[in-house]
Amino acid sequence: MLSVIIPAYNEEQMIPKTVSVIDGILCEAHIDHELLFVNDGSKDSTWEKIEEAASTSRSVKGVSFSRNFGKESAIFAGLSKASGDCCVVIDCDLQHPPEKIVEMYRLWEQGFEIIEGVKSSRGKESGLHKFAAKSFYEIMSNAVGFDMSRASDFKLLDRKAINVLLNMNEKNAFFRALSSWIGFKSTEVEYDVREREVGTSKWSTRSLIKYAVTNITSFTSAPMQLVTLLGVIVFIVGLATSIEAIVRFFQGTAQPGFTTVIILQCFTGSFIMFGLGVIGFYISKIYEEVKGRPKFIIDKTV
Ligand code: UDP
Ligand code: MG
Repeated sequence: MLSVIIPAYNEEQMIPKTVSVIDGILCEAHIDHELLFVNDGSKDSTWEKIEEAASTSRSVKGVSFSRNFGKESAIFAGLSKASGDCCVVIDCDLQHPPEKIVEMYRLWEQGFEIIEGVKSSRGKESGLHKFAAKSFYEIMSNAVGFDMSRASDFKLLDRKAINVLLNMNEKNAFFRALSSWIGFKSTEVEYDVREREVGTSKWSTRSLIKYAVTNITSFTSAPMQLVTLLGVIVFIVGLATSIEAIVRFFQGTAQPGFTTVIILQCFTGSFIMFGLGVIGFYISKIYEEVKGRPKFIIDKTV
């Protein structure tokens, strides 16, 4: 069976439509399925709409959060409650074309375990948003080690992959990157991002910035090492300034006492930064241990 996981936050207008469209497509393709809505603490009547849909359609199920926990949490909740042999995660606003689910499912039947939906275009976005998204994905791609610029949450996962994801005890799991990080036999399906039909994007600028910072820091400790780099720069500048101060001292053009002060200033500054860098390095190691990611993931044994 295929479980379709649909995180929904203030999507009251979309629920009935999403149910009929996805249900229709999967029934037509004769794919045994369940639609699992995760109500992420919506403030409108999203949950009532889900209950309504569940009472009329056997394939609709729902879970509801006590408050808004964010899309990542909604996805993981869906994965933990799904009973299918494979799961598709799809947005409630139908921006991810539901016909692609059938294509993904056929690939799964051929033996692929992770089928990533990749964006062939990013849809309509403003200039600043595009720039911010591009920078974010560049940092993430570097941290993860593969191209994330076209990645999305629209993907199909085999039960094996789902169990691996559910067994990770990371609290700040970044679904999009983690699902590639775990490996397994993967392939891609391209799709065009559609326009949102009703309602507005549920992401405010503030929530996007928070999302970017959380996910970058959950995959890399590089920002911590910036201070080490600064220490090196300050040290070099300090060295040059000190040489100049010493030369002036011997030429007799220096203010009395100034030479000692400037040299002490430059060197204490850079040593403190080095020190912070070293501490930061150990903290990043602790952080990696605390995340408790598995050292390896076994796919098959013989
Ligand atoms: N969503 C969610 N919790 C949130 C924000 C969004 O479950 O806190 C869901 C939302 O209902 C939708 C999906 O995540 O199904 C994508 O959200 P949206 O369309 O607002 O994002 P965008 O398409 O603009 O990236
Ligand atoms: Mg959307």
